[in-house]
Amino acid sequence: MTRFVFVTGGVVSSLGKGIASAALGALLQARGFSVRLRKLDPYLNVDPGTMSPYQHGEVYVTDDGAETDLDLGHYERFTGVAATRADNATTGRIYADVIARERRGDYLGATVQVIPHITDAIKEAVLRHADGVDFLLIEIGGTVGDIESLPFLEAIRQLGNELGPARSMFVHLTLVPYIPSAGELKTKPTQHSVKELLNVGIQPHMLLCRCDRQIPENERRKIALFCNVRPEAVIAALDVDSIYAVPISYHAEGMDREVLRHFGIEAAEHPNLSRWQAIVDTLRAPEGTVKIAVVGKYTTLLDSYKSLAEALTHGGLAARVKVELDWVDSQVFEEPHTVQRLEGVHGILVPGGFGERGTEGKIAAVRFARERNVPFLGICFGMQMAVIEAARHLAGLPAASSTEFGPCAEPVVGLLTEWTRGNEIERRGAESDLGGTMRLGAYPARLRENTLARTVYGTADITERHRHRYEVNINYREALEAAGLLFSGLSPDGSLPEIVEIPTHPWFIGVQFHPELKSKPFDPHPLFRGFIEAAVAQSRLV
Ligand code: GLN
Repeated sequence: MTRFVFVTGGVVSSLGKGIASAALGALLQARGFSVRLRKLDPYLNVDPGTMSPYQHGEVYVTDDGAETDLDLGHYERFTGVAATRADNATTGRIYADVIARERRGDYLGATVQVIPHITDAIKEAVLRHADGVDFLLIEIGGTVGDIESLPFLEAIRQLGNELGPARSMFVHLTLVPYIPSAGELKTKPTQHSVKELLNVGIQPHMLLCRCDRQIPENERRKIALFCNVRPEAVIAALDVDSIYAVPISYHAEGMDREVLRHFGIEAAEHPNLSRWQAIVDTLRAPEGTVKIAVVGKYTTLLDSYKSLAEALTHGGLAARVKVELDWVDSQVFEEPHTVQRLEGVHGILVPGGFGERGTEGKIAAVRFARERNVPFLGICFGMQMAVIEAARHLAGLPAASSTEFGPCAEPVVGLLTEWTRGNEIERRGAESDLGGTMRLGAYPARLRENTLARTVYGTADITERHRHRYEVNINYREALEAAGLLFSGLSPDGSLPEIVEIPTHPWFIGVQFHPELKSKPFDPHPLFRGFIEAAVAQSRLV
């Protein structure tokens, strides 16, 4: 029997509802239950794929090729359960489906309305493929009181009634701020937020209260009394030094015990948290530090590189070192002599990106890494920049560029017009829609023997997640290999370059896919493990 836990948020945004949901998932797993996490986003975009990283942060790509909210990344990192297209729905997606059905004539005769048609579609999205797991955790994006959240709250209210409390639970995340002038933690915002939730007919069963210090017994009782929840169900969500300490902290506050109590499940006193304890112990007592420069574009909003930053931390966990990140806006390197800023870093990473701005700076950073033997990892756009750099400065093609920036004489990176997915051929042109049309999701690649890539992965066949519209032009392979850039990983049919490397360099790899999306704290991705190990070796040299 699947039980449903709905997680809503109030008072302010950015309280960490995604991490809270992911951490509860991890705790239930640590008690031996199977879990799946899902997110409902109230915005009108059909998916976040077309949104600016400055607005929305990272777009997280699933194996089945969905472009989803970055919280799905937290879910995967905390539970190891691969998310799918069914695990993220937006208002745009729901409306697009309902309107398509209306056009087909599925509702013939009916006036199509928010209630019941939109709410029914939301309920379907919650319940879809929900069988077979012990717990389904559903996070509702936004904050209660938002106009656009209303249909979602109405839908989960109905589900709460239909499933009954034995199969459903409402958890509400709020803020309990400390007011220095009063010397007190304040419960009023929480009371107001719960009222807002009651207005739409939802009585929360548990309050998860973000706070920077312990909630005194008195305040806890006050919250319980005014918000109509058991005092034991008022859980302090304390600030912690690492997101990976959150499951441990929630357990110490009694969260998992209270969730199981709600559902009437008898359980052992403690879950097995050894996995999380080991991670936190390593994070808190590193044996050294490496400094990695991330040369990108969206460095003012680090949410744009969420999975990347986490994957680098995971690489550090594997090598038992702290990874210090120096986020550099690549445009800085477009001024003369600025690339010297990279002196002393132990690794250089150029991440994914879109558009021409800042590319010359990225190319300058690649060149620095290559010429100075600094460990380098180029991801997606970063790999494309590495190929352009090699074409220009090793293969004697000064006009080398990407057609993403307009027509060019030496298109070493060009528009991807045709590729195979399973048994089907996907085709695109310059005039295709921008939404959902990139080469998206998991694709296999084959690694060449006696290459760094093969050593790092320890296997010949891999699958990794992709999100790109352009690709390295295979027609330049011979010229580039003759110049010293080895194509060490290709799509199984040999047509799409997936990995490049420089055999004469201590550690230089570019990948067309996004390895950061599959890294877990308890299972660091081999590329990040290898990159950080190389950075550790580098730190012993400089
Ligand atoms: N802009 C490049 C492309 O579309 C790279 C995309 C990326 O880095 N995710 O191919």
